[in-house]
Amino acid sequence: MEVFDSPDAARQFVSASRSQGRTVGFVPTMGALHEGHLSLVQSALSCEVAVASIFVNPTQFGPSEDLDKYPRPLTADLEKLKAAGVSAVFVPTKEKMYPEGFSSYVEPPQIGETLEGICRPGHFRGVTTVVLKLLQAVPASHAYFGKKDYQQWRVIEAMVRDLNVGTEIIGCETVRESDGLALSSRNRYLTSDDRDRALLLSETLRNVEAAYRAGEKRTDILQKEMQETLLGQQQASTDLSHEKMQVERTLDALDYAAIVSAEDLTPLTSIDRPAVALIAGTIGTTRLIDNRELRLV
Ligand code: AMP
Repeated sequence: MEVFDSPDAARQFVSASRSQGRTVGFVPTMGALHEGHLSLVQSALSCEVAVASIFVNPTQFGPSEDLDKYPRPLTADLEKLKAAGVSAVFVPTKEKMYPEGFSSYVEPPQIGETLEGICRPGHFRGVTTVVLKLLQAVPASHAYFGKKDYQQWRVIEAMVRDLNVGTEIIGCETVRESDGLALSSRNRYLTSDDRDRALLLSETLRNVEAAYRAGEKRTDILQKEMQETLLGQQQASTDLSHEKMQVERTLDALDYAAIVSAEDLTPLTSIDRPAVALIAGTIGTTRLIDNRELRLV
C-alpha cells in the first residue's frame, strides 16, 4: 500500500491508473477508522483501484469544536486500510493542504444553508473546500460518502455537479451497532450513561418511521413527537418530580429534529415525496447526528 503526503504524488499515482483506463474509487476520511469507514472502502473496492485519505481538516471545525481532541490513531488506521485492500492512502499534513498564503475557498451550495449550515457556521465551507482539494489530488472516477452525514453527502453531490468535477459521488448506507447506534469516531467520547442516552437518536428515528408507516404524514406532528422523545416532557412542564427527571432519558440539548425533502432538504408540511428525518443534539460534551430516510409508502 502506497502512502502519499503530497497532493502531487497522490495525483501522479491516480492519474497513471486513470490513463490506463482503470476506475479509481476514493474514500475521504478524517481517520479514527471504524466499520462505517470500512464499509465505504468495501464499496470503493468495486473499482479497480481503491484509494483513501486521512486528514483532520481544520477549516471545517468551529472555534469551540473538538479539533484539538479529535482522535488521530494513524498507525492503526493505516493497518486497517492495508488489511481492507486499499492500494494507496493520501495523508497530507496541514501545511501541505493549507500552505502559507492560502486564501481560496469553495462557497457551499444552497443545500448547505439549512440544518448543519445554521448550527455550524462555516462548516460546509470547510467541507466543500477540502473535498474539492482532495478530489484535485485524487481525481477518482468514483468517491464514496456516508449517508450518516446526510447533508454533507448532498452538499458534495451538488458541489461536484455545479463545478463540473468529473467524479461520480456515491452515497452509502449508515453502519450501526447491533442496538442501532450509528458508528461515529465521536462515540468514543461517550461515557456509559451518555452511550445509553445516545440510543435515543436511532430509537426516535425508528419511531418516526413507524408512525409515518402507520399513516401519519403531517411533519409538524411527527417533528413534535421526535422533540418530545428527545427532550422528554421537561420543556413542556416544569413541575415534574425530581425523581422523574432523573429516570427520564433525554439529550442535553437538541439542535434540530426535522423532516425535510430527501432530494433538496427543503421543509415539507406533509410527506408527499421521499423525505429524510434528521436529528442533531448534544449528550454530555459530545454532539451527535443521525438520520433515517422515509421512502414513500
Ligand atoms: P469522517 O471520518 O467522520 O469525516 O467520515 C468519513 C466518511 O465516512 C464520511 O463520508 C462519513 O459520512 C462516513 N461515515 C462516518 N460514519 C459512518 C457510518 N456509521 N456509516 C457509514 N458511513 C459513515
